[in-house]
Amino acid sequence: MMLLEDKDIIYLDNNATTRIAPEVFEAMTPYLRDYYGNPSSSYSFGKQVHTAVERAREQVAALISCEPKEIFFTSCGTESDNAAINAALQVTGHKHVITSGVEHSAVKNHGEYLERLGYAVTYLPVSSDGTLQLKELENAIRPDTAIVSLMWANNETGVLFPIREAAEICQSKKILFHTDAVQCPGKIDISVKDSGINFLSLSGHKLHAPKGVGVLYVKRRTKFIPYVMGGHQEKGKRGGTENVASIVGLGKAAELALAKLQEEASHTRTLRNQLETGILEKVAETSVNGHPESRLPNTTNISFHRASAEKILVGLNEKGICASAGSACTTGSMEPSHVLTNMGLSQDKAFGSVRFSFSRYSDEAQVATTLEALPKVVEQSRS
Ligand code: PLP
Repeated sequence: MMLLEDKDIIYLDNNATTRIAPEVFEAMTPYLRDYYGNPSSSYSFGKQVHTAVERAREQVAALISCEPKEIFFTSCGTESDNAAINAALQVTGHKHVITSGVEHSAVKNHGEYLERLGYAVTYLPVSSDGTLQLKELENAIRPDTAIVSLMWANNETGVLFPIREAAEICQSKKILFHTDAVQCPGKIDISVKDSGINFLSLSGHKLHAPKGVGVLYVKRRTKFIPYVMGGHQEKGKRGGTENVASIVGLGKAAELALAKLQEEASHTRTLRNQLETGILEKVAETSVNGHPESRLPNTTNISFHRASAEKILVGLNEKGICASAGSACTTGSMEPSHVLTNMGLSQDKAFGSVRFSFSRYSDEAQVATTLEALPKVVEQSRS
């Protein structure tokens, strides 16, 4: 099979994964090639690697305005999500979890597994624009609630949840609060300072760092029981020899995401709006899914009525354009997106919806080419 490269494609699927930033790649290379010591070793060759991991911890802490000692490296966003919920259940001994009906499978499938084990899980509903009413959260809290886990931004629609307010409600009721902020870095401010957030998850590959590295923020004085048990790495909170090069890369990526936040958000918002307006103008029977303002600047989710998203994606792929239907993890299955059905979309609109997501590397020429290709591709998918 001929391998496609970045230059061959138009990549509008940055919520699925992102390109590694050149600065990140450069920062990582020495730790793949030269500095291979184990950060736990006591000699200088190991200690210098430990220093690099600690520098990355500082960089990630700066991104979310917390203390470096509140940051723990994991293998991915999924592990961080699982670890937070698991810790809350173990520490409290309580049997009830509250989440939403539109979470990523990292939380959704864990919730369904917990239900099979006999735990109770409440999935809060969302409005037709994908937003969450805090009243729903207040009403769902029970004396045996162990944790509330709500995503900061939805991966399919980009819709934002009122995370600081939700965390405050939980703090006032002494209930642990976790947020999956995997989609947020470089797009919105996710400072946890002075918030009631106990746990926050991040994933390297969504912010121009490599795949296979994640972060769990654990607020100071929040009790924690590790999910991956083993050695004393990460102060005993996560066993396993550190993925040093990727951690170094994630640190650099966090530094860039913080430094470029305004610039990147405004760049992706401009491109997203150009594409969205262009589609609504050029392609009949289309509508945007999700709240028009309260969403990530880089994401649009569009329903092409009476069309098959699967066919649209095939048509786009033939032209080298990458987008997705539902979340990347459900592509290939014929289930309509649980996010869109929870928002009350008809099966027709859910099956015909496509997500386009931008990054700092997207440009206007890519939007123009996509807008040129889409009317024909959609027409064919409708016939
Ligand atoms: N949470 C959200 C909102 C996501 O979008 C993703 C990835 O798509 C994850 C969690 C899982 O992250 P990872 O791929 O690092 O396990």
